[in-house]
Amino acid sequence: MAAVAMTTWQENMAVEAAAETRPAWADYFNDEMIDFWLGEVLWNQDMAKFTSYGVGGCAEAIIWPASVRELSLLLKGIRRLNIPWRLVGGGSNILVADEGLKGITLIFGKRFATIEVVGEKDGLVDVRVEAGCSLARLVNWCAEQGLSGLEFAAGIPGSVGGALVMNAGAWGGDISQVIRSITVMDEYGECCDKEAGQLHYGYRSWGEDAGLIAVAGVFGLQRGDKAAIKEKCRKVVAARMKQQPQEASCGSFFKNPPQGRSAGELIELAGLKGKRLGGAMVSEKHGNFLINTGSATAHDLVRLMHLVQSTVNEKFGVLLEPEVRLLGFAGGN
Ligand SMILES: Cc1cc2nc3c(=O)[nH]c(=O)nc-3n(C[C@H](O)[C@H](O)[C@H](O)COP(=O)(O)OP(=O)(O)OC[C@H]3O[C@@H](n4cnc5c(N)ncnc54)[C@H](O)[C@@H]3O)c2cc1C
Repeated sequence: MAAVAMTTWQENMAVEAAAETRPAWADYFNDEMIDFWLGEVLWNQDMAKFTSYGVGGCAEAIIWPASVRELSLLLKGIRRLNIPWRLVGGGSNILVADEGLKGITLIFGKRFATIEVVGEKDGLVDVRVEAGCSLARLVNWCAEQGLSGLEFAAGIPGSVGGALVMNAGAWGGDISQVIRSITVMDEYGECCDKEAGQLHYGYRSWGEDAGLIAVAGVFGLQRGDKAAIKEKCRKVVAARMKQQPQEASCGSFFKNPPQGRSAGELIELAGLKGKRLGGAMVSEKHGNFLINTGSATAHDLVRLMHLVQSTVNEKFGVLLEPEVRLLGFAGGN
């Protein structure tokens, strides 16, 4: 065991090529973790299945933690073994490289998705939600309970964890307006609660370090009329369906610039709507949607991203920043 623990991920890269479906570190990961990790590890999984874009290569290993304790133990073990890792939620805002993801991809999913009322103060009902809960389920649950505040999020795909981290928003609302506190875990597997005032929320960002994990959030919601909340959600979803393309995408690809025209307007004015590279295309319906027409690779989408950036920059002097997170590319995670 000691020899195993001393072996680093980098040293084992050399022999990894010999393993067909499992990375070289699979055996020593199993040896190291066997005392406390009984959960499933899925080896060599196609990430296209786990992202709304439906592109990307294989993740060497995927693990779904089901509790804070499990996650903490996993992170401690992963750290000891010096294996690269990242966390993914619903996969609706990530573009995974065709070359796939090295190391361990942790996914928060249905096994980590409890919703519970934890208190009521200052006229707000506090609802604690674990990160793996889908945002759609939370929005529906709130409507059923007659709790108002998250109607803006109706129709936004992905997990609650992803929404907390991305500060997901639409129609003038965003997560920062309803969040009371977040339980976070650092890369050492240690947890703490951060009150809303301690968070540095900004446009599509929670302002925290990469590597910090949102484990759960407490939302402050108002009691309201169930029928009115449901109707508001229905209208929001209908407006989405009207404005947004239905092809595979990650929603808006670029952040809107801090001032001036929106990213979508700039892309449209640059004459890029309908521009196609391989299977990737700038949507005819909405300029800020780079869609997978069915046969796109991650490489096609990245080439299109660069083309849009350079064209808009040349024409308007604005460098569009991706909202979508790139995983597995050089310089990314
Ligand atoms: C059709 C469509 C429409 C969309 N419309 C909108 C919209 O209106 N508004 C909007 O804001 N977004 C929109 N999006 C983008 C996306 O749905 C949101 O950003 C969503 O909140 C991402 O959640 P996720 O769980 O899918 O995150 P993922 O895509 O899985 O991850 C996104 C990033 O967050 C990190 N992450 C995920 N979970 C955690 C966690 N628990 N702790 C720490 N880091 C984490 C990942 O590492 C990654 O860097 C849309 C996407 C699609 C496909």
